[in-house]
Amino acid sequence: MITRRALEEREREWLAPYAVKSVDSKGRVYSEKEHDFRTAFQRDRDRIIHSTAFRRLEYKTQVFVNHEGDHYRTRLTHTLEMSQIARTIGRALRLNEDLIETIALAHDLGHGPFGHAGQDALSELMKGHGGFEHNAQCLRIVEKLEESYSGFPGLNLTFEVREGLRKHAKNRVPSLEAEIVDCADAIAYNGHDLDDGLRAGLLDFKDLEKVQLWKGADRYIREKALSQNQTIRTKIAIRLIINRMVSDLISETAKNIKKCPIETPGDFARSQTPVVRFSNHLTKKVSSLKEFLMNHLYLHYRVVRMTEKGKRFIQELFRLYVSKPEQLPPQVRKRAKEDGVWRAVCDYIAGMTDRFALDEYNRLFSPYERV
Ligand code: MG
Repeated sequence: MITRRALEEREREWLAPYAVKSVDSKGRVYSEKEHDFRTAFQRDRDRIIHSTAFRRLEYKTQVFVNHEGDHYRTRLTHTLEMSQIARTIGRALRLNEDLIETIALAHDLGHGPFGHAGQDALSELMKGHGGFEHNAQCLRIVEKLEESYSGFPGLNLTFEVREGLRKHAKNRVPSLEAEIVDCADAIAYNGHDLDDGLRAGLLDFKDLEKVQLWKGADRYIREKALSQNQTIRTKIAIRLIINRMVSDLISETAKNIKKCPIETPGDFARSQTPVVRFSNHLTKKVSSLKEFLMNHLYLHYRVVRMTEKGKRFIQELFRLYVSKPEQLPPQVRKRAKEDGVWRAVCDYIAGMTDRFALDEYNRLFSPYERV
């Protein structure tokens, strides 16, 4: 039998001295008895997976709006791909994989419907009313909005997980685990957006020849005569590119940890030099891939159309609710009493999936729909 205590012991033996150990956690806001068979971080991970906000990721847009096709990434599949990349990196560096997985699974919970449209529209609408930012919203969800327990609001996650989700905040206590998740996020979307963009026919193989990472992968495939089939060649190329980024990040970070040196989690929190990063050589290549995706995919007229349409849905729903809050369901009106109408509407819309937002739009704006 493997008890929590045995798992904690194993962390001590297995993990690097600079890894965050679950037994050293600063704990939860509302104190709870520890679980018999799960460490504190494993328990947090399970709380995320069982949350309502996590299930909604399935019908939220990453880049392509959900009904555009069945094979594009959604926020959920992005989250899963990113989490496994982050865990691979963390494991290789002997970091706390459970903490990494928990932060990874929760990192996009705060996104609204329609991808970036959600973030852009809500932050414009909330100007002068406390603002909107998806990382802050993620924390609001796990600390307040999820309702699952009788003794406290939110999920009562450990300090380390919440710190991992708290980005851009002053006085944040960062961990190597949280930084790894950040980098894995970029690795995951660079890889899968390229894949989705090609699948959608929005990206052109000719244009891609200017992207060094792609060119390198393509050359390798040709030299090894791996396949003549374009679909398989694309898959191999993307796999090679992801692997290149992951391997480079692991070796460069390991080097920096040694050089600094980082010997405890505290050393990392105090360190002024960037530790989790690509080599200079790869940084340039990754930037050029990002730039390519920005110009050819995120700014592609069809993607902009999708995003702008999403923004309009959100703006119109928002204005309608705020102009007459009596149209809101009872649980949202109850929140409005506590947090004000604007914040309650913002939380409500941010929580919507693409699917729900579209249905709601139809219910409220098309005369023949039932309300
Ligand atoms: Mg993400």
